[in-house]
Amino acid sequence: MQKDDAFVLYDIKVEVANNGINPMICNHKVGDYFLLSGENFSLPDGQSFPIYCLAALIPIITVKQRFTDPHDWISTDHEVACPDVNCGGIFKISRIGKRTFYHHQVTQARCTCIKR
Ligand SMILES: [Zn+2]
Repeated sequence: MQKDDAFVLYDIKVEVANNGINPMICNHKVGDYFLLSGENFSLPDGQSFPIYCLAALIPIITVKQRFTDPHDWISTDHEVACPDVNCGGIFKISRIGKRTFYHHQVTQARCTCIKR
């Protein structure tokens, strides 16, 4: 194992809440959630999640997995509204842990980085 090509990503949890203003329109319920660990997305047994909401969340949660500047809005903003403007859904994004990955295990591309 090459420890010098290690990198760390946050594990992410996205949980559904309601904005207290609008009813839920999409096929998500308060308390529904999914997890993201590395490239792996998982749902609790028997729960589904709308693909349109997932498509809106993917650009944000893949950045949330990474270490970001504490002054960057992506570090401080943890709620995203449902992309359906009539839906009261809010997605609460939490960094729930850290996980170490190794470059050589996740890609065949040559790593040219120098650790500082
Ligand atoms: Zn919705």
